[in-house]
Amino acid sequence: MTYQEQRERMVEEQIRQRGISDERLLAALRRVPRHLFVPDEVRHQAYADHPLPIGEGQTISQPYMVALTLNSLKLQGHERILEVGSGSGYQTAILAELALEVHAVERLVALLKGAQECLEKLGYWNVHWSVTDGSLGLPELAPFDGIVVSAAVPEVPQPLISQLVTGGRIVLPIGSRETQMLTEIRKVDGSLARQEIASCVFVPLIGRFGWPA
Ligand code: SAH
Repeated sequence: MTYQEQRERMVEEQIRQRGISDERLLAALRRVPRHLFVPDEVRHQAYADHPLPIGEGQTISQPYMVALTLNSLKLQGHERILEVGSGSGYQTAILAELALEVHAVERLVALLKGAQECLEKLGYWNVHWSVTDGSLGLPELAPFDGIVVSAAVPEVPQPLISQLVTGGRIVLPIGSRETQMLTEIRKVDGSLARQEIASCVFVPLIGRFGWPA
């Protein structure tokens, strides 16, 4: 099977048949070549239904987790998005397809370099990269219309709430270092509406509002 065929099958069986119907999201998942975001040793598994190691002790998320996360953001195309923990850059590329502007933050410079190179080769020019502790957000570039955190947090980092527009959403895995609940937080005038999406396992966020290294 070609990579394209594997990708179409992934979207059909792992994403659409599990209830995700946003056509823009499905089209982006069909377009982005996930096999280019994983190391050679695991390339044959790029479209499998689970996370994969990407080096530095980190993982590329399972395709369905990326789909569930981005489905909750309900993007229309005009948004400025903050992504914390860009890792391989795979979800960053999907975000670049779906939003106007993506601000990707990663604490490990080697991963960020690889992700940046991959996205530039693919022609995504609406992504801005920062190496820093993403649990602090990017105050100088706030506010954001949506925020995604791809590493586990014990609680929603307060700076991220401050950097979100009213009406905007943050999607993130909240829980212990071992297991979490993927959660959508919507900022409505003066309060937060919280909705649980699915239980999940992400690597821990290491930083001021995460865990110590
Ligand atoms: N969506 C990515 C997930 C990578 S795993 C992918 O599918 O490839 C989570 C990433 O979060 C790791 O790359 C890790 O280095 C990064 N991370 C952990 N703590 C962080 C922090 N405080 N700020 C920014 N990135 C962080």
